[in-house]
Amino acid sequence: MSHDSPAVPEVTARLVFASGEWTEARARVIERSARWRRSSALMQLGLWLLAPIVFFIPPHLPWVLVVLVVGGMRAMSRFREHRTLVSLHGSCPKCGTDQDFRETGRMKRPHLVHCANCRWELRADVPLSGPAS
Ligand SMILES: [Zn+2]
Repeated sequence: MSHDSPAVPEVTARLVFASGEWTEARARVIERSARWRRSSALMQLGLWLLAPIVFFIPPHLPWVLVVLVVGGMRAMSRFREHRTLVSLHGSCPKCGTDQDFRETGRMKRPHLVHCANCRWELRADVPLSGPAS
């Protein structure tokens, strides 16, 4: 996976079930700076450069709209990516299954993950690891 970087230190996190039960987990999170979010969003907007090219593919206009919408959505997603979850490993507070959670990428507030065994929704709480530069 492109996000996987061994340089990101592992921190202690919590997996919280709706009833309040929780277990300790290990997570790797990248705090994104405003500068990274801006430049990354602009790179995603680069997709818009394809608009004049896809215009020549019939039925013309729908492809242009698809390129504009997809580029805009990807840029917005990157601009809102304050934290990137690289990895999350822990045991489910509901059933106890030890696992690697796959819901990585942009961290939402709250960031919800699903247990691969019991399918219950868990909240991943990862403390801030310092200010982003
Ligand atoms: Zn479970």
